[in-house]
Amino acid sequence: MLLAYQYKLLPNNQQKQRMSKWLDMLRYQYNYLLADRFDWWQNNRCPINACPLITSIPEPREQPEYYGQKRSLVQLKKDRPWYQDIHAHVLQEMVKRVDLAFKRFIKGDANGKRSGKPRFKSQNRYRTFAYQEVKPDCIQGNKIQLPKLGLIKFIYHRPIPDGFKIKRASITKKADGYYVTLTLEDKSVPDVPTLDIKPTEKNSIGIDAGLEYFVACSDGAMINPPKFYRQSEEKLVKLQQKQQARPKGSKARRKLNQQLAKLHQKIARQRKQFHFEVADKLVDKADVIFVEDLKVANMMRRNKPKQDENGNYLPNNQSSKSGLNKSFADAGISGFLNEILPYKAAKAGKKVIKVNPAGTSQHCSNCLAKVPKDLSDRWNICSNCGTFLPRDWNSAILIKKVGLDIGLLKNANSRKGRRSSHCS
Ligand SMILES: [Zn+2]
Repeated sequence: MLLAYQYKLLPNNQQKQRMSKWLDMLRYQYNYLLADRFDWWQNNRCPINACPLITSIPEPREQPEYYGQKRSLVQLKKDRPWYQDIHAHVLQEMVKRVDLAFKRFIKGDANGKRSGKPRFKSQNRYRTFAYQEVKPDCIQGNKIQLPKLGLIKFIYHRPIPDGFKIKRASITKKADGYYVTLTLEDKSVPDVPTLDIKPTEKNSIGIDAGLEYFVACSDGAMINPPKFYRQSEEKLVKLQQKQQARPKGSKARRKLNQQLAKLHQKIARQRKQFHFEVADKLVDKADVIFVEDLKVANMMRRNKPKQDENGNYLPNNQSSKSGLNKSFADAGISGFLNEILPYKAAKAGKKVIKVNPAGTSQHCSNCLAKVPKDLSDRWNICSNCGTFLPRDWNSAILIKKVGLDIGLLKNANSRKGRRSSHCS
């Protein structure tokens, strides 16, 4: 089993300077190697018999790839001797990152999912370097021994669990200083087994990622959305205005930048803690948790403008949706549903199952009759059976029903079929 533990480093000034210099040097080299890849790719991506008629013919050269670029490090250290200061493994890890970024762009990852064009990194975007290997006994009291950097003080706030060995260390520069992330491995402990739990009416719940509520459960429990962001927002706006007023490149502006970064960091941490606490609560409730397979991007998209026959613009609900977008972004719901909740569930030997949410907001959870609602309608009022429920609660019950295959919604079914045929 692999674990990752993060600790705060307390380097002295000399160590700080050295790490920051390393990051700069690694970034230059990263950008250079990436440019080399782009260059070759631009010149060689079409086959020779399909070249456009008017084109410059590039000088043939070998395609830059991982091992070739790794070999170039030897020459680099000869040409630019200051690169000898960086540990060899750290340099190699940088080359690996170029390789990964480029491969994901051209070929995609293991699932064939392609990423966007890799960017050249600015100082703010290159913040991590890593040792591919460290000695298992690198921790000595409250200090950690890192090759070339020496002994660095750190806050050892939680001990390495028994049986785990330190495999890898990466160092990250954050708004409030340097952190080390240790990858720990214990081969004797197997990865968490995925238990084969059959969802039943009793052992499962459905949850609806809400707008009014952070989540609503099918058992009626509602968890309010975090308001951290809104609370800090005023502070954020003031700081941003102040920062904008200062001339670019001035010392005052730089200081304000740092304050802003720290505020963002604080909000992110509060949010993360909130997510973990909610995930714990939900995992305690049931063995199987049904969640909607949410395409948040769709929900954040702007509404289409509406016009009447004279070409006058009609209200299109965008303003109410904008307020909604904000609390949605605020709550960071997709990270919660896609990462944190499944992680917590797996740790507890439980299961998170995604269901197609089509129709779950537009039907009655009791009799499954269609109850059309606008985004502003907060209640499900069924004229068929008289069910009167808050909208999000109603959706949560329907999500559970769809998950359990009880009384499938016609609408949801047909869409599901269409979608899966598209995917395959
Ligand atoms: Zn009904």
